[in-house]
Amino acid sequence: MEVTVVGAGLVGCLLACYLARRGHEVTLYERRADPREAGAERGRSINLAISERGIDALRRLGLDGEVLAEALPMPGRMMHAIDGTLSFQPYSADGRRAINSISRGELNRKLLDAAEAMPGVRVHFGHRLTGIDDGVLTFDTPQGPVTSGKTPVVIGADGAYSAVRAKLQTQPGVDFSQSYLDYGYKELSVPARYGDFAFDPGALHIWPRGRSMMIALPNPDRTFTCTLFWPHEAFDALDTPEKVRRHFAEHYPDAAEAMPGLADDYAANPVGNLVTMRCSPWHRTIGPTTIGLVGDAAHAIVPFYGQGANCGFEDCVELDRCLDETGDDFPAALALFERRTADTEVIARLALDNFVEMRDKVGSRTFLAGKRVEHALERVLPGRYASRYELVSFSTTPYSEVERRIARQRRWVAGAGLGVAALVALALRRGK
Ligand code: FAD
Repeated sequence: MEVTVVGAGLVGCLLACYLARRGHEVTLYERRADPREAGAERGRSINLAISERGIDALRRLGLDGEVLAEALPMPGRMMHAIDGTLSFQPYSADGRRAINSISRGELNRKLLDAAEAMPGVRVHFGHRLTGIDDGVLTFDTPQGPVTSGKTPVVIGADGAYSAVRAKLQTQPGVDFSQSYLDYGYKELSVPARYGDFAFDPGALHIWPRGRSMMIALPNPDRTFTCTLFWPHEAFDALDTPEKVRRHFAEHYPDAAEAMPGLADDYAANPVGNLVTMRCSPWHRTIGPTTIGLVGDAAHAIVPFYGQGANCGFEDCVELDRCLDETGDDFPAALALFERRTADTEVIARLALDNFVEMRDKVGSRTFLAGKRVEHALERVLPGRYASRYELVSFSTTPYSEVERRIARQRRWVAGAGLGVAALVALALRRGK
């Protein structure tokens, strides 16, 4: 079957690999120039955290080893208090499981290589989709507008502001919502210090500051990429280099010391938006063409659980499963794929909730004590109790099942009462 995928970002490239493995002829259209020749585009995050769901999707195609070879494992988060005190909190009970800091550009380039190496995949760069009419796709290219032949299946992997979704939205019965946070994000960089990392590279660093926060992820070249998540008006307020330096010296003193180019970075780098997008359904057959959506085009979420790309990669696994179940009947497979909304709805909500946890709660003693109790429970009740973070980041348990399991565990712990409390107390006393 001829399948057109719009968007050769992270999800589009991986989906092309999955579809080609099934024997489909895949044409991938990307509005940008080939990033392997043109270099990275500014404006999206420079690095991102990949965890088990993403790794599982890569592993099924044998791509995990190559991708993880350049990743930096982060087994926990390091909180930076204003007075410089650091507190490390492992993500898992045994302290060994890690999320992985990966360069977005490098990951995209590897996935493009992988897609192009599959038989039956063709990639057209510099093609920005502008319309779909009667099965024909129109693109803006540097040479002017071009059109495709009649296209039976189009899958939009063209991100949060998807042009494919815009076509679906013209159809009666297709619901769409977008919800912006009052917050934006801006990236800054921390160069290597005397040839080494300025902070511990084995952690995701967080500067929780109540209504705002900054995070930093390590890069293989020993730099860190910091991301500020601030209310929009806070960005606007720092309108001179002096104000920027003063603000950082006051609120992020240890980071400010490590950022000699702070004021220039701050002035040069854009403020990005944080948005949750919902669309329902994700597919329709319009005239001769069946249209579907995956990744951010279907369900863009805010980045606070580090799950957007992981979830998009998992979409590819799930769509592959739906094609298995329907014998590669695309309209039927895309209809079945709608069952995934139960999961994407959950992660959209968890991502929003986690913002409050990261920017505010992680700095508090009560929160850290709660996490220690949670990890003690995981150790004394292996297989019986697992934290939400563990299930979201280190398993492929469907997100909706994660929520059901957390609710069951809470009921069980509340019912077991004193017995569980005694076990936890013992485990904490033994420092287990
Ligand atoms: P995109 O990455 O947006 O790719 C879409 C592609 O389509 C692009 O190549 C674009 O050029 C192309 N395109 C767009 N329009 C057209 C058109 N009209 N015609 C042709 N091509 C088009 N996720 C994680 O899992 N972990 C993290 O740690 C993480 N951190 C993040 C931090 C920030 C600050 C942000 C903003 C997001 C983060 N995410 C993270 C989310 C993650 O970036 C997205 O979920 C992921 O990039 C979605 O991939 P995608 O391929 O669906 O969309």
